[in-house]
Amino acid sequence: MSGWTEQALRGAASWRAFKEGLALREGGAVVEAKKTESGWRGAVRVGKRVFRVGVVVKSATGFEVRCSCPENQASGEVCCHAVATGMQALAVTSAVQTPDEP
Ligand SMILES: [Zn+2]
Repeated sequence: MSGWTEQALRGAASWRAFKEGLALREGGAVVEAKKTESGWRGAVRVGKRVFRVGVVVKSATGFEVRCSCPENQASGEVCCHAVATGMQALAVTSAVQTPDEP
């Protein structure tokens, strides 16, 4: 399942995580963002730390997030880093056609 959209991501994240994620991305904090077969992965730089995020899309509204930040470690929630990288991955994919799509 990889048919995820901004809409679904917005629904799965808390409003605060979504807002923070957009701010991170707009601030250029996303250093890596890439779609994978099952979702996406990426990295976000915050200060001197880099948070690595991996997301598996279980369903249209189910996102399994693995991030090294305390928020995600504590609750498994869709954190702002997942939002930032997800939005970046969507933007990159729509701007550039990737030849390795099956
Ligand atoms: Zn995080």
